[in-house]
Amino acid sequence: MTTTTRRRVHPDLAHHHPRVTRTSRGGWTWACDCGGASARSAAARLTWHQAYVGALIHSASIAP
Ligand SMILES: [Zn+2]
Repeated sequence: MTTTTRRRVHPDLAHHHPRVTRTSRGGWTWACDCGGASARSAAARLTWHQAYVGALIHSASIAP
């Protein structure tokens, strides 16, 4: 394995970096720097796994 240095030529707009966070309601949600988030409805509480999968799916999508 070679160590790779992340090049920061420009802001990483082509990829997402959603973060899974715990809500005050006891559920889990994810939010991304691009403004994307799972919390469309606060009533729908996600499990950690659901939030994690949602974040993965989001991170796999390429920003237009
Ligand atoms: Zn995003």
